[in-house]
Amino acid sequence: RAPAATGATAPLLAVERVSCNYGGLPAVHEVSLTLAPGELGCLLGPSGCGKTTLLRAVAGFHPPTAGRIALRGIDATTLSPERRGVGFVFQDLALFPHLTVAGNVAFGLHRLPRGERAARVAGALAPLGLDGLADRYPHELSGGQQQRVALARSLAPRPDLLLLDEPFSSLDAHLRIALRSELRQLLKGWGIAALLVTHDQDEAFAFADTVGVMRAGELLQWAPGFEVYHRPADPFVAGFVGEGRFIRGTVLDPHTVATALGRLRTGRAMEFAAGSTVRVLIRPDDLQPDGADGIEALVVSAVFRGAETFYTLQLDDGELVSALFPSHVQHAPGHRLRIGTDIEHVVVFGPEGTER
Ligand code: ATP
Repeated sequence: RAPAATGATAPLLAVERVSCNYGGLPAVHEVSLTLAPGELGCLLGPSGCGKTTLLRAVAGFHPPTAGRIALRGIDATTLSPERRGVGFVFQDLALFPHLTVAGNVAFGLHRLPRGERAARVAGALAPLGLDGLADRYPHELSGGQQQRVALARSLAPRPDLLLLDEPFSSLDAHLRIALRSELRQLLKGWGIAALLVTHDQDEAFAFADTVGVMRAGELLQWAPGFEVYHRPADPFVAGFVGEGRFIRGTVLDPHTVATALGRLRTGRAMEFAAGSTVRVLIRPDDLQPDGADGIEALVVSAVFRGAETFYTLQLDDGELVSALFPSHVQHAPGHRLRIGTDIEHVVVFGPEGTER
C-alpha cells in the first residue's frame, strides 16, 4: 500500500505523549520520541523505569492509556501487533519448540519463493554465528544461542523497524560486545531502524545513534549518545551515565566555578548569577592519578576492574568523587594521594530541587 501523502517526510516511528498504566498505576508518562528510517535508538534506564512497557506499546501489545503512536506517518495506536509490520524480540523469546532453528527463522517468510526463503534464512543465521545449528531444536540450544535464533528470526523478513528488549542479556561479555557491533552493521547495511531496551550504558552508546534515558516512566532526554554523556539535560541523566558524582560549586563568572577541586571551566555559559551555589558533575575520567601539584584526596575505596581501578576519593571538605585510574599502581583505602584536575569542561546544575 502506498504511504499517505505525509508519509514521505514523516518519521518511521513517532511516539507522541504516550502514557501507559497497569491497573491505575502509571508505568510510562507522556513519552515522546521519533525514529527516522534506519535510525538506531536505545532506551536506557534503571530497572522498572518503563522501558519494556514503552517498547510493548510500540509493538502493539500494551495499549497506551493516552497519546498516539504513528508508524510510517500513519496512526497505529490501536493497530494489532501483526498489522504493524514491525519485528520484535522480547525477553521470553517465544521460539517455536516444535520447529528447528531454520524452521523458526523461516517462519515469517512463507510468502517468499522457496529459494529466496532459504537464502534469507542462511543470510540471517550466518552473521549471528548460527550456521552450524540450523537443524537443532530450541531445547538443544544454550540460552545465548536461543537469543540469537530469536534475533535471526526477527531479521529475516527485513522489517523496516525492529524492537529489541535486552537482546544480548544471555550472552557472555565477549559475545555480547561482538554481537552488538555485528547487529549494528547488519541493521545499518539493510537500512533497518531499531529501538533497543537495555540497562547497560556501554551497550546503549556502542549500539545506538540516539539514546533515551528514562526514569520513573518519563523520558528525560532523547539525543545522540555523545550529547547524553557530555550535555546531559537533567541531573539524573548526568548521574546515571558515567558513574559521576556531584560536588558543590560557587559560580565566579558565567564560565568558571569554584570547587574543592579548584576553579573549573564549564563547556557552556551558565545562567546562574555570580555567587550562586551549584552542583558540579565530576566523572571518574575527569581526574588524573599523578597530579604532582594537584589536589589532595583520601582513598575511601578501591575496586579493581582489570585495566583500571575504580576509586572513591574524599576531598578535604568531606565531599566524595569517583576516579578511574590505570590499575598498575595501586592505592589502598586510607592512603592519601594527589590527583590532577585537568578537566576540559564540567557540567553544572542548580542546587537540588531547582529543576522539574
Ligand atoms: P526492567 O529493566 O527491570 O525490565 P523496565 O524499565 O523494562 O524494567 P517495565 O517492565 O516497563 O520496566 O515496568 C515499569 C513499571 O510497571 C514497573 O514499576 C513495573 O513493576 C510495572 N509493571 C510492569 N509490568 C506489569 C504488569 N504486568 N502488571 C503490573 N505492573 C507492571
